[in-house]
Amino acid sequence: LILLVTSCNFSNQKKTVSNKPDNIEARVDSVFQLMTLDEKIGQMNQYNGFWEITGPVPKEGQAAMKYENLKKGLVGSMLNVKGAKEVYALQKIAVEETRLGIPLLFGFDVIHGYKTISPIPLAEAASWDIEAIQKSAEIAAEEAAAVGINWTFAPMVDISRDARWGRVMEGAGEDPYLGSKIAEARIKGFQGTDLTSKKTVLACAKHFAGYGFAESGRDYNTVDVSEATLQNIILPPFKASVDVGVKTFMNSFNELNGVPATGNNYLQREILKKEWQFDGFIVSDWGSINEMIAHGYAKDSKEAAEIAINAGSDMDMESYAYIDHLKILIKEGKVEEKQIDDAVKRILRVKFELGLFDDPYKYCDEVYEEATVGKKEFHEGVLDIAKKSIVLLKNENKLLPLPKSGKKIALIGALASDKTSPLGSWRIGADDESAISVLEGMKQYKDNQLVYAKGTDVAIGRTQFMWETKINETDSSGFNEAITIAKQADIVVMVLGEHGLQSGEGRSRTDLGLPGLQQQLLEAVYKVNKNIVLVLNNGRPLAIPWAKENIPSILEAWHLGTQSGNAIAEVLYGDYNPSGKLPMTFPKSVGQVPIYYNYKNTGRPTMNEPESVFWSHYIDEENTPLFAFGFGLSYSKFQYSNLKLDKTSVTNNEKIKVTITLKNNSSLKGKEVVQLYIRDLVASVTRPVKELKDFKMVELAANETKEITFLIDEKMLAFYSGNSKWETEPGGFKVFIGGSSDKTLESNFKFVKK
Ligand code: BGC
Repeated sequence: LILLVTSCNFSNQKKTVSNKPDNIEARVDSVFQLMTLDEKIGQMNQYNGFWEITGPVPKEGQAAMKYENLKKGLVGSMLNVKGAKEVYALQKIAVEETRLGIPLLFGFDVIHGYKTISPIPLAEAASWDIEAIQKSAEIAAEEAAAVGINWTFAPMVDISRDARWGRVMEGAGEDPYLGSKIAEARIKGFQGTDLTSKKTVLACAKHFAGYGFAESGRDYNTVDVSEATLQNIILPPFKASVDVGVKTFMNSFNELNGVPATGNNYLQREILKKEWQFDGFIVSDWGSINEMIAHGYAKDSKEAAEIAINAGSDMDMESYAYIDHLKILIKEGKVEEKQIDDAVKRILRVKFELGLFDDPYKYCDEVYEEATVGKKEFHEGVLDIAKKSIVLLKNENKLLPLPKSGKKIALIGALASDKTSPLGSWRIGADDESAISVLEGMKQYKDNQLVYAKGTDVAIGRTQFMWETKINETDSSGFNEAITIAKQADIVVMVLGEHGLQSGEGRSRTDLGLPGLQQQLLEAVYKVNKNIVLVLNNGRPLAIPWAKENIPSILEAWHLGTQSGNAIAEVLYGDYNPSGKLPMTFPKSVGQVPIYYNYKNTGRPTMNEPESVFWSHYIDEENTPLFAFGFGLSYSKFQYSNLKLDKTSVTNNEKIKVTITLKNNSSLKGKEVVQLYIRDLVASVTRPVKELKDFKMVELAANETKEITFLIDEKMLAFYSGNSKWETEPGGFKVFIGGSSDKTLESNFKFVKK
């Protein structure tokens, strides 16, 4: 028994017991059998750690209470503790001062890098480059692990169709297929192939589920969606996460169809643990157990604890509901001990899989931390993915790429010189002012004359939540200087958009235009010089119809992280040929939201009927988006032709081979994301007008032509049907291939079920 436990008190001895699944179960049991009920409940308790444990021992208040509980072995995990030294000090208490010496998990929001920051997840999604996304997560994991973190609360795999919701910056956009591929890549990147290594961390698929469908895009708001939308749109990236082996899930603040996610038995026990056979554990979101009181679903914290554990929430993040009430709830017979046992075994299993029982201090090496954080390779890696995340939205008059010499360039906009905003939201391990600004990036191209003026501020305080900050800047005193330098310039580059802290948690917006006076600044500069390249910095789709109409070149550069300015400059000057595609639809106006490419037809779908007035439409806006999902240009010119299917009718076990000819009609090598969509024409429940089912990143030399092949199989045709299960139905289908969801070639085929 003792041998199996390999108690942490003997952590210095060599690993003798393997981490094979069978062995892990035996080792979990061996620890589990020694545990008292209090110690079991303690494992389900996660505290935020805001005090410096290496400093004075906390004597009063919450910190003292947490410290005491830690010493008693009543804490299973901590979050927001960083630095090998801090983590070591806490781990030492857990391992050496508590009765059983069970090591702690240290969770942290490593959302897009720890200190070396990669693009925000929405931007990375725009790369459609699965390998690069995985690499970016690997970098984040390696750097985070070096500062003592062994568990990241990422990836956020919430699908969202609402750009008003500030957390779209943290996800992969609106599509469940792309979202699933990216979820898999991120999880593989974080967890690696060997969880016991020093370079990997546990991943956490969040927020289970429906969080991205908050009504009116207001964070934490009610979610009311059909079972079909839940199954077909929201759940696929979560299912993909389980299939790729994610070790933890986080539930969610929102209610889903009347039941808070944290107390949702159907989601957590029925779907996740039973149907999908997830064997990791679920952590609540911050205080979400107690939030069920305000939801009107639990009368007090005690009842909230009862509901949460019975619904399958295994670990309590900062509600103190489990530690305070679970024991008494068991005595009263409201909670069965087997629920606790199941949760505890899940948590212990993950700790064993991570190798923590063998070496609880594997993440606590200060010398390694020093040598690892901010490594050169990390900077190279985040620069690479930053370039890949940029989307060229418009390029008329061949303004881009910029000439490398002999030009006078005016650079305008507060965001152009900002060294903090590019880090974006959720980068708590990074230092302010640690990003390369566009100004710094462009200065490296020395053979042009570069002049800079701010024009106007993008006003945002340094506070966390939007209601405390001023969004409407009213100071236009810098306009004149901007106009003056624009007048004298050959080309104007304007960097406008949202500050990095204008998206993220708690940062919903009702206006999707350029905040503050930036739109006015743009129009004022345009009056004196029309040769404008607009570089957008933003954490969500923006509604900027005037810019699309008037500005000749537009580059979507999101919040690209530490290497932002270098990435943008390389793309502006043509040292990198852009290949990104939008992972989320850009609306023409807020009134169109939610707007997404995989919508369903109404009974009045087309404008071409004689009674077109009855077409489903607005009287003041078109139905079409500003920029479609999947859209993005390149400095090369790609042409699609010759869509061919090797058969037009298939049965269950067959595959259709679809080919298309792609030509690079330019003298520049470039990359194109070729997208395949399918439509099920008639079904037992109505189906979207098209759905992404596959894509390929293709590189073509100047003037090269390639035949691109896809295979359509039965799996691609499955959906959550009128029989309330995932299945395929026979009938007619359409296949579409193109470089954007709204620009495709198409053909028909039939599926015959045998
Ligand atoms: C967020 C989570 C995050 C947690 C811990 C919550 O407010 O919703 O996504 O992981 O805080 O920081």
